[in-house]
Amino acid sequence: ETQYLRLPPWLKTTIPVGKNFAKIKSQLRDLKLSTVCEEARCPNIGECWGGGEHGTQTATIMLMGDTCTRGCRFCSVKTARAPPPLDVNEPVNTAKAISSWGLDYIVLTSVDRDDLPDGGSKHIAETVREIKARNSNIFVECLVPDFRGDLDCVKTIATCGLDVYAHNIETVEKLTPYVRDRRAHYRQTLQVLREAKRFNPNLITKSSIMLGLGETDAEVEQTLLDLREVGVECLTLGQYMQPTKKHLKVIEYVTPEKFKHWEERGNELGFLYTASGPLVRSSYKAGEFFITSILA
Ligand code: SF4
Ligand code: SF4
Repeated sequence: ETQYLRLPPWLKTTIPVGKNFAKIKSQLRDLKLSTVCEEARCPNIGECWGGGEHGTQTATIMLMGDTCTRGCRFCSVKTARAPPPLDVNEPVNTAKAISSWGLDYIVLTSVDRDDLPDGGSKHIAETVREIKARNSNIFVECLVPDFRGDLDCVKTIATCGLDVYAHNIETVEKLTPYVRDRRAHYRQTLQVLREAKRFNPNLITKSSIMLGLGETDAEVEQTLLDLREVGVECLTLGQYMQPTKKHLKVIEYVTPEKFKHWEERGNELGFLYTASGPLVRSSYKAGEFFITSILA
């Protein structure tokens, strides 16, 4: 019999719903736009969509379909060697929907498309240009794949007009082969983040780490140092949650105090912001942090 860790009290949450939530939800239905926030039943939806203290609303959209060419052992997105072709109308349709939505900050994420020669980088870049052409005030973050380290793809994204280039390191170096798809590599992720910044020094770069997979404090510390070393400016840390029984088991529920410790370490090491907490996800209140920590 498999033993499962008991869920600690700080993870037993009800989803708080902000005042803008119902409005956005009905708009989304009209726009036929689906968000990661809703589909993943993200516990932060009230805070992100509600806009927080400064009224800065954030949402996350998934591009390029619902089927990934990779199979990371922490992720519940479905996998296929050759997912359906891209929808050529997606960049324009997504941009139209976003512009009529009135958000402040949008995170565009995607599945990995190793089946496409450019990894889908041109499709993502086109979506950003379409969004910015309709609303130059919106901030756009792209949470992108490693493109197998292909620097042409990295350049396509880095120079498309986005504000924040995000690529997640996910875990410490030692656990990378067990946690991420075998095509993803710790050093390659660092290289991609370094090069994105080199292609466009005006970009803000960002990465994210999941805790609770069996990593040691010394390994987390080293990962923070490695990210700073390649110039990463924004960092998020959150608890790994097992999506289904087929996925990696949670080894540890990291305490809120330990998350606080990593937030303080992130600040000491010079990240512009470190969002760290059990429920924090890569895009957690990204707009709010951007406005208060980067533009300020
Ligand atoms: Fe999930 Fe991304 Fe890994 Fe694909 S590459 S399996 S979407 S984490
Ligand atoms: Fe959406 Fe990300 Fe916020 Fe969750 S953390 S509600 S996925 S923007």
